[in-house]
Amino acid sequence: MSLKIIPINKPSITELEISYVNDAISTGWGEKCNDYIYKFQNDFAEYQQSKFALATSSCTGAIHLALMALGIKAGDEVIVPDITWIATVEPVLYIGAKPVFVDILRDTWCIDPEKIKTAITPKTKAIIVVHLYGNVCEMDEIMQIAKDYNLVVLEDAAEGLGSEYKGKKAGSIGDAGVFSFHGTKTMTTGEGGILVTNNETVFEKAKVLNDHGRNPKDPENKMFWMREYGYKYKMSNLQAALGCAQIRRIDELVEKKRQIFNWYTTLLSNIPGQLNFEQTDTKNSYWLPTLVFNKSLIFKRDSFFELCKLNKVDSRPFFFPLSSLPIFEDKKENIIAYDMYARGINLPSFHDITFEEVSKVCSLVKEFING
Ligand SMILES: *Cc1c(COP(=O)(O)O)cnc(C)c1O
Repeated sequence: MSLKIIPINKPSITELEISYVNDAISTGWGEKCNDYIYKFQNDFAEYQQSKFALATSSCTGAIHLALMALGIKAGDEVIVPDITWIATVEPVLYIGAKPVFVDILRDTWCIDPEKIKTAITPKTKAIIVVHLYGNVCEMDEIMQIAKDYNLVVLEDAAEGLGSEYKGKKAGSIGDAGVFSFHGTKTMTTGEGGILVTNNETVFEKAKVLNDHGRNPKDPENKMFWMREYGYKYKMSNLQAALGCAQIRRIDELVEKKRQIFNWYTTLLSNIPGQLNFEQTDTKNSYWLPTLVFNKSLIFKRDSFFELCKLNKVDSRPFFFPLSSLPIFEDKKENIIAYDMYARGINLPSFHDITFEEVSKVCSLVKEFING
């Protein structure tokens, strides 16, 4: 008998998404070629309670645009958490700026505000914070440090859509925020991203940079005349149509993630390890249920993945500290990141996963650690 694979993540697609995309592909051309893009930007900004939103082809592109619009230049230092997806950091390199890796907190696995302070130098211009796996960063402390040292804050909320800090949406608190709509994320446009901000100057700059440097303020007869060169990270109208449907369902999509996480909490209650942490005054949207085993347990991560593969369960490892990659310089003083990454695993949480499937995953985990 062939077992059905339990994937780690995949989108939730209903008739609503199909009807929106059908409409875009049938009618969304010519004078209507941007309608879904404008609608998606408006709807997303409204959900985030942010003033401006710029849809992009990826979150990586949105980060690149945001850093440039926030004035980050070659030679500047940008503080980043040591544990995150590489896409947080690559745009820093595109600009020729230098990522400075900072350790994480033991409970939320997000960047440690105290360690940010000790990493600041006269060259530091920005802090990128990452709401890892849906967990929420200590935004009050981080915004205060940014104010004290005159730094800008970019929230990489690719994994934090629907998470909240003191009643505010993750991604809406810093100088700018970015999200990903890759097919593994809480909502999808196939591939895609978005930049949100309350700062009109930042928004206008990002918009020009995203249109080959073309400035809408130039006169009509200067349509193909650019004052500076730019980039093109535009989202297509077809993708935006999918986004319009998904954002209508966003509360349902986030609630489903929370329900799945609660199943894991219940079924793994006796495990010697820690799942995603939710501080008081925050809401965790639990994009990816993650389990970090206690140090007392000798956990052989590779053997665990073999067992998963055999049972057709898709599990993933916790991120390596980025500073441990060969393209960067080791930063072993980031003790927490280096101490715990090898004990962490991500668990399946696609919206349509059943309780039975979650039970199967949990049985595998228990079977493995009880040997
Ligand atoms: C997924 C992800 C990104 C990149 O998103 P893309 O849309 O694939 O460019 C960036 N940062 C984090 C933390 C992510 O998880």
